[in-house]
Amino acid sequence: MSWEPVIGLEIHVQLKTRTKMFCRCPAGFGAAENTQTCPVCLGFPGALPVPNRTAIEWVVKLGLALGCEIAPRAVFARKNYFYPDLPKGYQISQYDLPSCINGKVIVPLQEGEHEVGIVRAHLEEDAAKNVHVGGSSGRIGGADYTLVDYNRGGTPLVEIVTEPHIHSAEEAKSFLQLLRQTIVELGISDAEMEKGTLRVDANVSVRPAGSDELRTRTEIKNMNSFNHIGRGIEAEVARQIEIWESGGAVEQHTYDFDVASGTLTARRAKEEADDYRYFPEPDLVPVEPSEELVERLRGELPELPGERIRRIGEALDHERALVLVTGGLDSLWEETVAAGADRVSAANVIANQLVGAGVEPATVDAAELAKLVEGRDRIPRKSFDDAIVHVGDTGFSAEPYLAQEAVSDTSALEPVVDAILAANPAQVEQYRGGKDGLLGFFVGQVMKETKGAADARVVSELVRSKLAGG
Ligand SMILES: [Zn+2]
Repeated sequence: MSWEPVIGLEIHVQLKTRTKMFCRCPAGFGAAENTQTCPVCLGFPGALPVPNRTAIEWVVKLGLALGCEIAPRAVFARKNYFYPDLPKGYQISQYDLPSCINGKVIVPLQEGEHEVGIVRAHLEEDAAKNVHVGGSSGRIGGADYTLVDYNRGGTPLVEIVTEPHIHSAEEAKSFLQLLRQTIVELGISDAEMEKGTLRVDANVSVRPAGSDELRTRTEIKNMNSFNHIGRGIEAEVARQIEIWESGGAVEQHTYDFDVASGTLTARRAKEEADDYRYFPEPDLVPVEPSEELVERLRGELPELPGERIRRIGEALDHERALVLVTGGLDSLWEETVAAGADRVSAANVIANQLVGAGVEPATVDAAELAKLVEGRDRIPRKSFDDAIVHVGDTGFSAEPYLAQEAVSDTSALEPVVDAILAANPAQVEQYRGGKDGLLGFFVGQVMKETKGAADARVVSELVRSKLAGG
């Protein structure tokens, strides 16, 4: 029997507002522990929360970008639980009346498009950060003691919940890549997994392929890169299939994915939502964004990355479009092509050489880059590489680099080619035995010997004819 994974994601995004969700403490990363706190975010009795207007506008903006309906009336609730990272004893979060509902995201994939429903996107405040000291894993098990840094407590968070419409680890990664790029372009969060400003939990179950049942699901937490998410999902899918196939039953649990060993460790029996005793926050009025506000925010939306991947994919190909858009490289590519460069060459140079040289795309003059892309084959490779390193400099001109001619004089190149062939008799024999791929090796050696000054096309021709002739 073949099995189909059924995956839903829960994503937390820390908004980069200047201040926290319900007080005026600075929000942000990197300050000394417990220096960004006040009576509100420390939960002192009598302190009253005041919502952050920017955070409210941003969740609406994100909801619109995710194709959601914007609730005319959203309500903050208290989610009660006891833990040291939560000084009030409850977290303020939207519960039964969230700001954004019923969205959908079209994920462009190599094989076509895939629609992922968005159940909701809501605002809440982040908990403080527990730092477990001692022990090897940095987790609570085995730690000697735990410290709490309340700087993070009260930072605005958006929680996004998808429908279980995702059916492979690859799809999950593509969806997240697209979501992340959307968030970054909206300018509402840096959405960096390593810094914890983007956190993803996955709900995973499996079912016989072709059926539409929903079996018991488990939750995987603690994955801190897209690759870990992919590996965590794959490990959990394999584990569940094995259980069902051996006659057992999957139990509802929360697992941590251990990156080093690639295994999952059970955390705690999953709490039911009822355990949190949600009730409306009496200190806050409902969030009622006006129609004018929603329409203004809708008007501010840029062309979204998903649409651009589709559009550029049609002009180029899906794979390159994905790399350009998710790398924030597509507007430079469009300008470079508009300035006369070949689509594919421009995409390759931008996605490979430019990124490899660490050049910031926004600093590049597309017209000069276009000249380089087009003149690339006529100049020594070294000149091209040098030019790429400097293409982002103020006032950069491609002219001096393009003026350097590659050595294409065969009489100058022949002795070098002969020397390289003589020095590598084993490879010569393999090439003549049919290993055509070695051509690149010989050309590479000649380029190295001439310090990149040779015309690669001439060298390639020369090597080919010598090996055929001898
Ligand atoms: Zn505060």
